[in-house]
Amino acid sequence: MDIYGVLVDRLALVRGDVYRLRSRNLAYGVYDGTGGFIGIREKFGLRYLDREYLGRTAVATERVGKIEEPIELVETLGSVCTGCGEGMDYRAWEAGEVGNGYLGRWVYIDEGEGCGELNAIAVANEALFHALEVFEDAGSGGVEASTKIPA
Ligand SMILES: [Zn+2]
Repeated sequence: MDIYGVLVDRLALVRGDVYRLRSRNLAYGVYDGTGGFIGIREKFGLRYLDREYLGRTAVATERVGKIEEPIELVETLGSVCTGCGEGMDYRAWEAGEVGNGYLGRWVYIDEGEGCGELNAIAVANEALFHALEVFEDAGSGGVEASTKIPA
């Protein structure tokens, strides 16, 4: 029934376990427990964490390991201001505020003035990146990144 042969049943997927994937862009990914796999993507010479979705852009073919706590299973760990390094958060407009076409605005989490630049940048989850790199390095290089997932 499945052209890829034996696949890991979605009911058997375990949050935090790392799987070899047949996916659009990821060779390996850690299952996030809610239908997503996070792995290392290469694009234009850059390597960064990206997510693909069970049954839509990725299927697991083999369990290869586990990501241990306390590493968080997310691509980024919030946002900081490039000017002062203060943590930032995106807030939706509240009633009465003028929306200027955007859904909301960036603010400093501590509600302070910060440096005033309010220039947010996402903080990469380096711990997860390095933990997943181990699987990439240990793999056969058998990246199946261009494999299409059947509808
Ligand atoms: Zn700032």
